[in-house]
Amino acid sequence: MPSALPRKTPEAKEKGFLAGYTLAELAELLSPLPRYRAGQIFSRISGGAASFGEMTELPKSLRQELGEKYSVYSSEISARLTDRDGTAKLQITLYDGGKIEAVLLGDGKDRNTACLSTQAGCPMGCVFCKTGALSFKRNLLSAEIVEQFLFLRKTAGKAGPGAGGISNIVIMGMGEPLLNLEELRRAIAVITAKEGSGLSPRRITVSTSGIAAGIRDLAEKGPPVRLALSLTTADSELRERLMPVTRTNPLKELKAALKEYQKTENRRITLEMVLLGGINTRQKDIEELGRFAEGLDVIVNLIPWNPVEGMFFEGRALREPESGELAAFTELLEKQGIAYTRRRRKGRGVGGACGQLGAAD
Ligand code: SAH
Ligand code: SF4
Repeated sequence: MPSALPRKTPEAKEKGFLAGYTLAELAELLSPLPRYRAGQIFSRISGGAASFGEMTELPKSLRQELGEKYSVYSSEISARLTDRDGTAKLQITLYDGGKIEAVLLGDGKDRNTACLSTQAGCPMGCVFCKTGALSFKRNLLSAEIVEQFLFLRKTAGKAGPGAGGISNIVIMGMGEPLLNLEELRRAIAVITAKEGSGLSPRRITVSTSGIAAGIRDLAEKGPPVRLALSLTTADSELRERLMPVTRTNPLKELKAALKEYQKTENRRITLEMVLLGGINTRQKDIEELGRFAEGLDVIVNLIPWNPVEGMFFEGRALREPESGELAAFTELLEKQGIAYTRRRRKGRGVGGACGQLGAAD
């Protein structure tokens, strides 16, 4: 029987993982196969099918042929760790042997948040973050991002069509998402497609260390996700030392980009503040934060630093903020009238809390 599918191209390995394809891309890839077939395959993958063999509605010869040319997934779960607080951390092995992590954060009720990685390692080098201390390997493919979502949905226990057990996604795992915006866009298109999992983009938060051009690009071309900026401190001089990205993306430029974002996406932006004991909890940090927040609709998210062994800042060992320090900080925020929330500490027992992800070495 003549093949109904195109020949496998030399660069096929990366192109052969169908979990990362949008429906339109899949239809094109599989043409001249009729479009409804692409639709069937797309919705089965979104529904959790891990192999073509499971897609019994397809003719056997087609299943076989698909299996010879492509695979549904590119990666596999190599370990699953569950914390007493219900947080689950997955260690995932990529097709090239690289390792990443993805985390499921449950609230014990109906809210399950999937925390996804966008890069293996991270090139940004923030001094307080374990991922930043690893060597940067590469950007993840759309398939590798979508697969994290599908694996976590299965872990949440309610797989099947639709978003299943996942109510929210935060792009806050390993890596800087705005340096991998094209593949992230494809992955979000797959996850939000109404023919597939159908999660609303408004339930997705993208967190960036502060790449002004990426924020502008997102404002201009979408998708309409929520945005979070890892501000850490609004004192430029200190931020340059803590987060080297500030040298090429000064706070002034970041603020202008956030304003532009807020013009198109009229929604609150989260400013994430990792609190490092004795470093960025000073009066000056609060004052500068007040100035930075002026003219923006923001909510501050306080994240007490999660301990990572052996992390130093200019010769000083990093430490968690003391409870008095935290109380003084929140009191000052209240005085300034700045809205804030405190992030609950989740996943520390499995090294799955913010800034503790580091399977890449
Ligand atoms: N790279 C993106 C998203 C992943 S980091 C970014 O930086 O925004 C997710 C959040 O964890 C960021 O706000 C970051 O500042 C924070 N973080 C990093 N290391 C941390 C640590 N050790 N303890 C607590 N939060 C940390
Ligand atoms: Fe990368 Fe975010 Fe960690 Fe900075 S905080 S090193 S940008 S993962």
